[in-house]
Amino acid sequence: MSERGGHGGIAEGRGPLAAEAAALDAEDVLAAKRKDFVLDDTVYLDGNSLGALPRSVPGRLADVVEREWGRLRIRSWQESGWWTAPERVGDLIAPLIGAAGGQVVAGDSTSVNVFKAVVAAVRMAQRDSGGGAGEGDSGPARTEVLVDATTFPTDGYLAESAARMTGATVRAVAPADMAAEVGPTTAVALVNHVDYRTGELNDLPGITAAVHRAGARVVWDLCHSAGALPVDLDASGADLAVGCTYKYLNGGPGSPAYLYVRRALQPRFDSPLPGWNSHADPFAMSAGYRPAEGAARGRVGTPDILSLLALEEALGVWEGVELTAVRAKSLALTDFFLRCVRAYVPEGRTRSLTPEAHGRRGSQVSLLCEGGVDAGRAMEALIARGIVGDFRRPGVLRFGFTPLYTSFADVERAARVLGEVTGVTG
Ligand SMILES: *Cc1c(COP(=O)(O)O)cnc(C)c1O
Repeated sequence: MSERGGHGGIAEGRGPLAAEAAALDAEDVLAAKRKDFVLDDTVYLDGNSLGALPRSVPGRLADVVEREWGRLRIRSWQESGWWTAPERVGDLIAPLIGAAGGQVVAGDSTSVNVFKAVVAAVRMAQRDSGGGAGEGDSGPARTEVLVDATTFPTDGYLAESAARMTGATVRAVAPADMAAEVGPTTAVALVNHVDYRTGELNDLPGITAAVHRAGARVVWDLCHSAGALPVDLDASGADLAVGCTYKYLNGGPGSPAYLYVRRALQPRFDSPLPGWNSHADPFAMSAGYRPAEGAARGRVGTPDILSLLALEEALGVWEGVELTAVRAKSLALTDFFLRCVRAYVPEGRTRSLTPEAHGRRGSQVSLLCEGGVDAGRAMEALIARGIVGDFRRPGVLRFGFTPLYTSFADVERAARVLGEVTGVTG
């Protein structure tokens, strides 16, 4: 076993790739952002599972707890803006996903928002086709939900239940086949923007256009794209979208997710979870339900204020950040990582599952272990040596690159240690 680095005790690289990393860091326009996060000399490449803590969050959270809750108590719902926080935080997320204001609401988990979005989309599509399942009078009934065959599992589970509730059926379709498979009986297609396993970027504008040509609706899951690359929801005409905020948006463990409903569709958004927070006049406490206008229609119950306000503070790091610069750095980081892996990892030990083409790559690199390398053990060895990525069964090492705080020196170190770890198999 080669010498074991202590916590963050990996030797500085001395070869040409380390020199190149230093040069790339010196000209990185986002380099100054790293100091806005709490980091140590661990190489943290797991921001696609849990983003690092923005430095200003603990102070803000202490103020929310001690002053807003501790002293103002119930008054904070009005005076501290708690009641309107879901829409306010939604409007902070909006520019990061290419949405004009008033179309995004923060709250609940991604799983819950997938359910709301898919049921609402099926209801819209069934009304478009002139009736409920099987009784359309101006076209065939739209009874099918197409689900990304490579989706993060929760989306598939929820789509299945949503379909059962609306009298529809589910069919799994690979994102690349979505355009060919969508048809007159499709109600909605549910697609992940970036594949969580391989890091492949799916064609959001192209698939959206194809789904619309077929008269169906599309729901995008942005969990692995928002905050890592520009997303153009409004420009592409996407119908609905959901995403989480604890990955590239650094909102903290279990931070609230969000729901986007295109403005033109808001009046037709018929939520399957019409809680009192989405009522047009919640404090009327009326027996009958009347939906609010706008993004608030996507709310359910009382918002999770502590998490929501931590997220609001965390989103402050995006002020003044150009998403084109984020994308450029993300691609440069993943390109450099792939080069360093080729240079440092012995031939035949790992194979990249992540597309080489920039247009098809998100912000992570997934390496399939081969040649007798045990991926689970390799990741344990990496973590013990201060390189944190994650492992997905059966044999995939995932490395997420967060452009706001990952440096090129981090990338070079990670690949160098990976080379050592995968080179010492028995
Ligand atoms: C991370 C992730 C989720 C997580 O859903 P939760 O409800 O927050 O647990 C959902 N979908 C995708 C595509 C993800 O990557």
